[in-house]
Amino acid sequence: EAVFKKIAAGEVIDRPASVVRELLDNSIDAGATDIIVEIEDGGLKKIVVTDNGSGIHPDDLEICYLPHTTSKIETESDLMAIRTLGFRGEALSSISTVSITKIYSTYQDNTEGKYIILEDGKIKEKGPVGLPRGTRIEIERIFDNYPARKRFLKTPATEAAMCKKVFLEKALSFPDISFKLIKNGNMEVFLPQSDMTERIATAYPTIFTKSRIRTLEEKSGNISIKAVLLSPSFPQRDRRNIYIYINGRNIQEYSLVQAISYGYREVLPGGQYPAAVLFAEIPSGEVDFNIHPAKKEAKIRILPELHSLVSKTIHKELRNWLM
Ligand code: ADP
Ligand code: MG
Repeated sequence: EAVFKKIAAGEVIDRPASVVRELLDNSIDAGATDIIVEIEDGGLKKIVVTDNGSGIHPDDLEICYLPHTTSKIETESDLMAIRTLGFRGEALSSISTVSITKIYSTYQDNTEGKYIILEDGKIKEKGPVGLPRGTRIEIERIFDNYPARKRFLKTPATEAAMCKKVFLEKALSFPDISFKLIKNGNMEVFLPQSDMTERIATAYPTIFTKSRIRTLEEKSGNISIKAVLLSPSFPQRDRRNIYIYINGRNIQEYSLVQAISYGYREVLPGGQYPAAVLFAEIPSGEVDFNIHPAKKEAKIRILPELHSLVSKTIHKELRNWLM
């Protein structure tokens, strides 16, 4: 049974960057305005995420790591209209199965917090803790009990780069939240609260340099889009700097990457690619994120409409810009 649990956990959590992704999701879902991510040795030694969100109720703290425990879905109709990033209650259970997990949390206006230490998915220790409102989760010794998975990890430098990538992609769609990434004790990235354009320019200063970008907004029926476009005077060699967000979630959706490239078709020759960030908001009933463990893929029912709105609007915007 323990082996099955670990294999299932390894599907959701395959490396330190997935821990960073899931803990960030939880902090964002908790309404935090300040989130700090600390990683040591690419997360292989330690990952710590601290937030000033709602905190976890002391009664819930003792069960939050159990499989399928979520405070975010109560009914099946909730599942049809997901507004939170998490909803499956898999992250903490998976993480605590493959690491030593320490959770410290102070709920709302409580004067005292509580902590639990989990090993092999079971509570090893618990007690009170002095901590301001919010949650601090520490992950140590990831995959030490799962050598088959540990063997697939890369060097600390590569794992750190993957953590940073996830961190930036996540932070991009939440400019109202301040994010810090601390690497081996040094501030690696600081993203203060700002607006969308400013956030993108701060997160990717060498690509989306402020003087080279333009922001557009458009609405059609029940679809609304915002995008930050890099001037075609700075063509890219691949599609790596095209980012797609649907309802605040970063997804890999090739047809929308293509829609953006198509919008640039008159100003970029073949073999050159744009850099752009697209945020689309569509009714939650039109998209299903529940098809991939990492929620990296989605099924978008109004994809043709969205595709055409994106390419048309970008095409028009680039004409205006270059005239
Ligand atoms: P999910 O996010 O799908 O609900 P998780 O396993 O990620 O599942 O988290 C389980 C539960 O633990 C959440 O539903 C939430 O109630 C609680 N939780 C986890 N992290 C935090 C946090 N940083 N702040 C507040 N509550 C949290
Ligand atoms: Mg979650």
